Amino acid sequence: MPATLIRNAHVYAPEDLGVNDVLIANGKFLAVGKDLNVVLPKLETIDAKGKILTPGFFDQHIHVTGGGGEGGPVSRTPELVLSELVACGTTSVVGVSGTDFITRSIENLLAKVRALSAEGASTWMYTSCYHYPPVSMSESAAKDMFMVPECLGVKIALGDHRSSFPTIDQLIQLLADIRLAGMISGKIGVLHIHSGNLEGEFEMFREVVRRGFPIRHIRPTHCARKEHVFKGAVEFAKAGGYIDITTGGSCCFKSPAEAIMTALGEGVDPARITISSDGHGSKPRFNEKGEMVGLAVCGIECNLETIQKLFREYGQPLERILPFITKNVADSHGLGCQGRVAEGACANALLFDPDLTLTDVFSKGRQMMREKEIIVKGTFEE
Ligand SMILES: [Zn+2]
Repeated sequence: MPATLIRNAHVYAPEDLGVNDVLIANGKFLAVGKDLNVVLPKLETIDAKGKILTPGFFDQHIHVTGGGGEGGPVSRTPELVLSELVACGTTSVVGVSGTDFITRSIENLLAKVRALSAEGASTWMYTSCYHYPPVSMSESAAKDMFMVPECLGVKIALGDHRSSFPTIDQLIQLLADIRLAGMISGKIGVLHIHSGNLEGEFEMFREVVRRGFPIRHIRPTHCARKEHVFKGAVEFAKAGGYIDITTGGSCCFKSPAEAIMTALGEGVDPARITISSDGHGSKPRFNEKGEMVGLAVCGIECNLETIQKLFREYGQPLERILPFITKNVADSHGLGCQGRVAEGACANALLFDPDLTLTDVFSKGRQMMREKEIIVKGTFEE
């Protein structure tokens, strides 16, 4: 892979570094600075004057092997392909399972994240799905975390009619196992929690923390799906927890952007907010009369659309909103090499026009999109 020198881009690392040159080689950012003097064989130089350069987007909730299934076998959503990630600037992914704990195996999820990695993305996964006790590849979810480098933690559903309704003692025991497995395997160890529509989930978290368990391992997602969930999430974030707002699913606000603005307005620290797409889950399709006429696959472009909305309509500075889908996601998973433009970090980078239209994507140092054209596709794509 030739080294790439991107000249004169306005770099948001995600902090605003001003106009800089960025040198990429061997899949890493080698240097960020003004007027870099670079002599290398096969150096490709890109003039990015007038463009914005940001880290690649890191989506911690994509059903890469397909989700759905609640409407019988016909409602199982298809697998994701690489170009879907590239199209919306997603260079890094945590693959998740969903409701279906019978036909969707965790081994299949691991194979898919490895395939996407081989195709050029940076990929991880959580073991298990909605179910309790956890569904694992080895004899326990904790052992999965130790034995599988890609496995950052465990998924579960709470407050949902499709969950297994674990008790608070079962929850705290699972969290303790994850925390310990994290310590032993050199990971943070997170419990990624699908929050459903039912009440009581955040009361459980409060009790778990009251008993002395560290809040940082408890990671609720879908935090803006219902008003009472959002209210619980705001309090949870103010107590030091990370909250994840879904950009592609049900939302009790006009848009996920409005949910984020409301959380910020209520005093939530921006460093505690992340967003994710819930891509490749299933969603109902409605006609003009509001009648359900079928099913569709959730896209993953909603992260990009949410950042664009916050920038264009709410006038939010990029250094404030980019961390939701870059640095905060990386840091909350202990992946300091991701989600930032810094020397030595993984070279995931995006170029945008000044109105935040995506034009170029680099993933692990390789150019995947050039001037809005996807130039690297998945193994079985045309
Ligand atoms: Zn999901």
